[in-house]
Formats: sequence, C-alpha cells, structure tokens
Amino acid sequence: MDFRFTPEQEAFRDSVRRFAEKHLAPGALARAHAAEYPWDVSRLMAKHGLLGITIAEADGGQGGALMDAVIAIETVASVCPRSADVVQAGNFGPIRVLAEYGTPPQKERYLKRLLAGEGVISVGMTEPEAGSAVTDLATTATADGDDGYRINGAKVFTTHAPYADVILAYVRFGPGVSGIGSVLIDTKSPGVRFGQRSTFMSGEEWAQIYFEDVRVPPGMVVLKEGGFKRQIAGFNVERIGNTSRSLALGRYAYERAREWAMQRKQFGRLLCEFQGLQWKFADMKMKLDAGQLLLYRAAANADRGFPSAEETAIAKAYCNQAGFDVANEALQVMGGLGYSQEALVEYCVRRCRGWMIAGGSIEILKNRIAEAVFERTFSQRPGA
Ligand SMILES: Cc1cc2nc3c(=O)[nH]c(=O)nc-3n(C[C@H](O)[C@H](O)[C@H](O)COP(=O)(O)OP(=O)(O)OC[C@H]3O[C@@H](n4cnc5c(N)ncnc54)[C@H](O)[C@@H]3O)c2cc1C
Repeated sequence: MDFRFTPEQEAFRDSVRRFAEKHLAPGALARAHAAEYPWDVSRLMAKHGLLGITIAEADGGQGGALMDAVIAIETVASVCPRSADVVQAGNFGPIRVLAEYGTPPQKERYLKRLLAGEGVISVGMTEPEAGSAVTDLATTATADGDDGYRINGAKVFTTHAPYADVILAYVRFGPGVSGIGSVLIDTKSPGVRFGQRSTFMSGEEWAQIYFEDVRVPPGMVVLKEGGFKRQIAGFNVERIGNTSRSLALGRYAYERAREWAMQRKQFGRLLCEFQGLQWKFADMKMKLDAGQLLLYRAAANADRGFPSAEETAIAKAYCNQAGFDVANEALQVMGGLGYSQEALVEYCVRRCRGWMIAGGSIEILKNRIAEAVFERTFSQRPGA
C-alpha cells in the first residue's frame, strides 16, 4: 500500500494547479458571488482537457481514472472554489451517466456540446413529494403509441436547471422501484415549463420544472424500466464529486485561516500561539486527513469504473460533515473577517452546508452504511 500519488498523478496535479493559478485565481472572489454559470471557465477547461477526464477517448473524453478527476476537482477548488462546480458538471454528474449508458445518437447530440464546455446537463430526481424517498417519484412516462412517451410531473432543486440544455430525468414507466428508468428531456421541448426562480443559501438558483405532456421520442430513453439500480450506480460518481468539493472547500477555508493565524496579532501575540486555537487547527487537520483517505479509497478503488456504494457513502457522509465543520471553524478563527464577503471562507461554509443535504443527505447515507454493518436492509416505511 502506498499513500503517495504516482509521478503521473503528481505531474497532472501540478499542471492543473498551474492552469488554475494562471486562469482562475484572478476573479475567484467575484465568481463565487455571481449566480450565473461561469461559461468562460467552462470553455477554457474544455480546451485544457479538464472536462470528460473519465470519459472514454472514443466518446471525446480523456480516458482517465476517477482518481484523476478527483485530483482535478480538488486542485481547482484550492484556487477557485466556484470553478470546481465546472469540473463537477463536466466529469462527475449526469454527463458520466450519459457517457456510460447513452446510445451513440444521444452522445452525438449532447455529449459533444457538453465536453466543449458549451452546455450543461442536469439530473432531475427529486420531486416535491419524493426527496430522500426518491423511489416514490411520480413523474410518469406513458407510451404514446409506437412513437415514444409523454412525460408528466415536476422536479425540484435541480442544479443548473435554469440554463441546462438537457435534463436526465428519472421517470416512472410503471409501478414500484422496477418501474423507474430515465429519459433525456430537452429543456426547449414544448411542455417544459420553469416555475419561479428561488435561491439556495449558497447563492445558486433553482426553479421547479414542470413537464406537461412533454413528448419524448423513443431514442431519448436512457434506461428503461428496471434501470434504477444502474442509474444509482452512476450517481455514486456524482457523490464522489460532492465529497471532493466538501473536503476541498473545507481545506480552502482552513488554509486561509492558517495563514491568518500566522500573521494576526491580539494581546501582543500571534493567533497561532494561543493553545485554544492550536487545538482547533489540530482537529481541523485530523478531519481533513481522515476525509482525504476515505475519499481516495473510494475513488482509487473505482479506477475507471463506478465507485462502490458503501465506500462512497462512508466517504461522502464523513467529508460532508468534515468539510462543513472545518470551514465553520476556520471562519471562527478569522473572526469578523471570516464572516465577511471579502474572504471566501463564509462562501465555503455556505456551500459545504448544502452538500450535507444534496446527493443523499448524511442521514440517508448513514442508513446505507448501517445496512452494510448489519448485512441486511432496513425498510424506512411504516409497518415494514
Ligand atoms: C444544493 C442542493 C443541490 C441539489 N441538486 C439536486 C439535483 O441536481 N437534482 C436533484 O434531483 N435533486 C437535487 N437536490 C435535492 C436533494 O437531492 C434533496 O434535497 C435531498 O435528497 C433531500 O430531500 P428533501 O430536501 O426533500 O428532504 P427530506 O427527504 O424531506 O428530508 C428532510 C430531512 O429528513 C431526513 N430524513 C428523511 N428520511 C430519513 C430517514 N429515513 N432516516 C433519517 N433521516 C431521514 C433527511 O436527511 C433530511 O435531513 C439538491 C439539493 C440541494 C440542497
């Protein structure tokens, strides 16, 4: 066992860092406070091979391993936290599911644009009445003769939806978990309607999406009924991206607080000389290092495939909590400055808070971990 990067991984990390310092460091603060998607960064990353890192070369990607994508996202986040969202969208989210399960015409139509940094794809799972209990989703795909399907339902909290080209929507072809599959819905299709825009604590915008008799041709089905398990297997990649950003933003805040503690004086002494603060830093460092090992285990074991559900759940639950705790402590150490929008530390706290809910909340992941502990399932439904 070796806990160090290979020379190739080190060289890749250094090249991403040089790219990020040159192109992303300027404007990092402004980018974090802008609601719109950073399309300039997206196109730039496409040119530098930072989108589609794990997607096969035959599909226009780089053919790398999941660990390479993790190195990219955390290195970008260490320089510009907001730009890490572009690495997420171009590597970890529904783009990866599309590359894995999509048909050649689907990839031709959408993947090229996504990999060029010209568009984004969203995943629509959550509905008003189906959050943690996602298999309760009620959006229906009803056969429209031989001519495809009609989609009816609504999705909430869908990241990037206000400007996405296409939504990978989880839909119900029939009853039960086995009735769930997925379709690609072009956001310009007749019958797709967006509700009032709302804003998360992080500053990201979302809007409820309504599907009102939206026609989906047969060629836009990604996974038919019975596809839910495969869909969720792909979703574990998205979870690794959330895990990476949680930890990376915690580390970003920690680094700013560490620098501050070595220069700020109170009572005639540097902050880092107070034992009360030294112990906070020791706790922060232990959490970051522990989370890093769990994240790297899940990513490295996945290699070029999907990560294990159990290792992903452990890494995400731990890093979501650790990232938030560390960013929050870093803010405390920086006092009023940490709480102010002149530094990105408060932004890191706000962003990390969201990942404790998004992509499988910490509680739901702990349910999954408990099932692995006891080697049995525990139904969450009444009377089960
Ligand atoms: C920033 C952000 C981005 C998101 N992006 C997307 C996206 O791109 N696509 C998408 O489809 N969805 C997205 N979501 C939605 C997200 O997946 C849901 O918010 C999440 O699954 C929780 O669902 P809910 O909000 O309805 O909360 P609920 O399911 O109502 O849960 C409320 C609380 O109860 C807890 N809880 C529920 N059931 C149990 C249980 N059995 N045991 C213990 N505790 C339980 C939950 O952990 C939570 O704390 C996003 C959410 C956020 C915050």
